[in-house]
Amino acid sequence: MLADTDRIFRNLYGREDWGLEGARKRGAWDATKVLIDKGHDWIIDEMKASGLRGRGGAGFPTGMKWSFMPKSDPRPSYLVVNADESEPGTCKDREILRHDPHLLVEGSLLASFAMRAHTCFIYVRGEFIRERERLQAAVDQAYAAKLIGKNNVHGWDFEIVVHHGAGAYICGEETALLESLEGKKGQPRMKPPFPANVGVYGAPTTVNNVESIAVAGDILRRGAGWFSGLGKPNNVGTKLFCISGHVNKPCTVEEEMGIPFRELIDRHAGGVRGGWDNFLAVIPGGSSVRCLPASLCPDSLTMDFDSLQKLGSGLGTAAVIVMDRSTDIIAAIARLAAFYKHESCGQCTPCREGAGWMMRVMNRLVEGNAQKSEIDLLFKVSKQIEGHTICALGDAAAWPIQGLINHFRPVIEARIDAAQVRRQAAE
Ligand code: SF4
Repeated sequence: MLADTDRIFRNLYGREDWGLEGARKRGAWDATKVLIDKGHDWIIDEMKASGLRGRGGAGFPTGMKWSFMPKSDPRPSYLVVNADESEPGTCKDREILRHDPHLLVEGSLLASFAMRAHTCFIYVRGEFIRERERLQAAVDQAYAAKLIGKNNVHGWDFEIVVHHGAGAYICGEETALLESLEGKKGQPRMKPPFPANVGVYGAPTTVNNVESIAVAGDILRRGAGWFSGLGKPNNVGTKLFCISGHVNKPCTVEEEMGIPFRELIDRHAGGVRGGWDNFLAVIPGGSSVRCLPASLCPDSLTMDFDSLQKLGSGLGTAAVIVMDRSTDIIAAIARLAAFYKHESCGQCTPCREGAGWMMRVMNRLVEGNAQKSEIDLLFKVSKQIEGHTICALGDAAAWPIQGLINHFRPVIEARIDAAQVRRQAAE
């Protein structure tokens, strides 16, 4: 279990003052200038050494991402913080925005300085009205205290622009976010070029998740060795987990990366509703990863990037959606299929046509109104979507369905059989 002294988000539940004074008492903005005076490269090297992997879902090493930014380029560099938190089940970044926004403001300064950026855009999800207001208030406090802005106390001119999105899930994809930021329709760009070369306004840009940036101050103050000493090799540090679904006490909690799954649920979420014998399955990393049945979640299963990937799933955003035996798992996955169909931006054919086609088949499977051969067809079509689209939304639409077929095929077949019996009885 993570020791209280190792927590980064000490006001996750909003019990203390979110403002500058409260943040300072918790350690934010402490010796920030000392860190900046160590130089751009020291910060990047320290972040690399910390082993931090991006907290937005992909798990790419953050320090390495920062090192891709050009060191001398006539164009300005930008940091863009992705606060478009929209993955179903995910509710961690909003707690940072609400209750500890100064960690993000300070982290934005440190990350921007490391990448030689004088401007940072924070793109906030359209539905996050209060969160955007709170963040803006924290940014205003930082300007007033001369922590950021022109001629600030840190000696690095730095502006933060809080930008409010319009509520499209696809704008959480980094290049769609950049398009939207530029005032265009939020549709993903083809890569390459990658944002580090051609990002917002055609200039070098790094896009990072809120949590990845908000932990930077603590990592730099306490040292890369402290952060990399928590968790498991290649899966280090602390992590915010959002636990929802059929647990007794849904919550968002900061824990050590690699905590055993069952310990996470028992200790922080009060256990599975009706006990572990009533546990059916879990979606361990936000709606876009493949679900895992109870048989693949023994006591030894740990919550980290590599362990979950080995099982064909993923840590994603660490949004842990627990389902008990009362769940109609086919209907649950059909609901996700409808979500991804709705959120497809329509640019590429496999996603635009495939997501709708899969949703329609899934809706028939919920009723058992299908042939068993369609299960294989559905799997095959999902494979033709996966990896054949501009952005990862195609994969996100395909993976939940693949997880369902991989682990719950007998349930789908039984539903088809039962529907057939009903039809025959009615004839
Ligand atoms: Fe748009 Fe889907 Fe293609 Fe992504 S995969 S660019 S959401 S059509």
